[in-house]
Amino acid sequence: MKAEGNCPGLAVIIVGSDPASQVYVRNKCKDCTEIGIYSEEYALPEETSQEELCALVQKLNEDKKISGILVQLPLPKHLDEKAVINTINPKKDVDAFHPANVGKIMIGDYDFLPCTPAGVMELIKEAHVEVSGKKCVVVGRSNIVGKPQAMLLLHSNGTVTICHSKTKNLADECRSADILVAAVGKTKMITADMVKPGAVVIDVGMNHDENGKLCGDVDFEHVKDIASAITPVPGGVGPMTRAILMKNTVKAAIINK
Ligand code: NDP
Repeated sequence: MKAEGNCPGLAVIIVGSDPASQVYVRNKCKDCTEIGIYSEEYALPEETSQEELCALVQKLNEDKKISGILVQLPLPKHLDEKAVINTINPKKDVDAFHPANVGKIMIGDYDFLPCTPAGVMELIKEAHVEVSGKKCVVVGRSNIVGKPQAMLLLHSNGTVTICHSKTKNLADECRSADILVAAVGKTKMITADMVKPGAVVIDVGMNHDENGKLCGDVDFEHVKDIASAITPVPGGVGPMTRAILMKNTVKAAIINK
């Protein structure tokens, strides 16, 4: 692509100094360098205004060097996340958060898939797990993970249940799953008694335990003996999310050529 003058380029915008977000942004730019994608990082101060942020996004929308734009979430409270995402050119929206891309995912006719749910599907595929006809349970219904995850499993012909904080009998729902995806954000909330023997368990959660160590939503040590396959944290869904972002950036360069 470089030889053809179409080097993929990713612009990552971060506002404020949230340490976790800073690590994510650094890793994204590192991944770009490693595989030869051009990247630009914009670290804006906490007090950045809505107008300043949207003006930067508009500028990047027009920039030929930039094929993908990513605004690291969450944004500081005074900024309107929805309005910022709506400003991104949908053809450069490598996170697939723009409503136009969300709608396209719904009807199964999309340019980009959101990185984390797409990474989960890639893991399932690489592990040769058949989704068609399987009972899939997704715990969590956020716009960036749970909902699109459920939609992708549905597109693969799974029979999908979405659970959330108001779900009654969560343990029973989880126990019915052939494929269980946990995307909640609560340390070890999926315990061994909530998992059907032989189930495939995918842990999206990124939490910190009492010792500050990175861990998922699943009690890995106890569930690993029951599940037929399970993703660890760290080293499971997180790196896949990063890989899909790179894939989306390359795709964006092709689309925007
Ligand atoms: P959100 O906080 O936006 O959503 C959490 C979801 O969990 C909500 O739908 C909530 O329900 C549900 N929930 C909360 N408590 C319970 C409960 N007791 N029982 C059942 N459901 C519950 O989180 P995200 O979707 O953004 O992220 C989820 C996790 O995944 C986090 O740990 C995050 O750090 C991680 N993550 C990891 C990524 C990766 O690359 N590996 C990428 C993105 C996120 P309700 O809607 O009713 O409030």
